[in-house]
Amino acid sequence: MPEGDAVHRAAARLRGALDGRVLTRSDFRVPKHATADLSGRAVVTTLSRGKHLLTRVEGDLTVHTHLRMDGSWQIQPAGRRTAPGDLVRLVLANEQWQAVGVRLGMVDLVRTADEARLVGHLGPDLLGPDWDPDEAVRRLRAAPDRTIGEALLDQRNLAGIGTIYRAETLFLRGIWPWKRVGEIEDLRGLVSLAQRLLEANKGHAGTVTTGDRRPANQTWVYGRAGRPCRRCGTRISRGEMGAQPQERLILWCADCQPR
Ligand SMILES: [Zn+2]
Repeated sequence: MPEGDAVHRAAARLRGALDGRVLTRSDFRVPKHATADLSGRAVVTTLSRGKHLLTRVEGDLTVHTHLRMDGSWQIQPAGRRTAPGDLVRLVLANEQWQAVGVRLGMVDLVRTADEARLVGHLGPDLLGPDWDPDEAVRRLRAAPDRTIGEALLDQRNLAGIGTIYRAETLFLRGIWPWKRVGEIEDLRGLVSLAQRLLEANKGHAGTVTTGDRRPANQTWVYGRAGRPCRRCGTRISRGEMGAQPQERLILWCADCQPR
């Protein structure tokens, strides 16, 4: 599932292909906006906010997309046929390039002035220019009885963490995922570590938290259920937590992250 760093990269690729160029074609394959036509308008820019993408278009319009579980944006030379079987939800094309949104979990078109309705609830963006660890900590502390595992995925506290960074950050800090927020002394250290992990991965595909980019060695606990902990040899545990419908998987080392 794409997390904040992957969305950040998607925004950069969209900027490279679309910024400042006039759209020659738009194709919204979602019922709500099936008749929308942005051709003739220049794209201003694309921003990422947590896991949301905002593509601003001339005339006070913003295309809002979210990758959700397995969405992606593919940049191709204009006019190329899309691969059969790809579930295309949106195409934005100019004379040179076409950006093809495949399996996007959300496609919306709003007034740019109304962007806050879509992303105004988000906490500080771990990869945003306005990243503010103190504000993230303040938001986390507001609900001290929540489990830290749930609180870190709640994008209203801080925006950009998904199940991979949650598991890896908690492991590196030795924190049991079900520990209450109010019981954690160094929340600032925790969110700052999460930010550094995303920052370190924003420039390349994949998530490396161990410093070792070989495919089998990239993470401490994520994707390693039942395998020995890299620190202590205990088998990595796998479970689910929280009420959110999608992002519930948690992995941890019962020895390095004791109750
Ligand atoms: Zn361990």
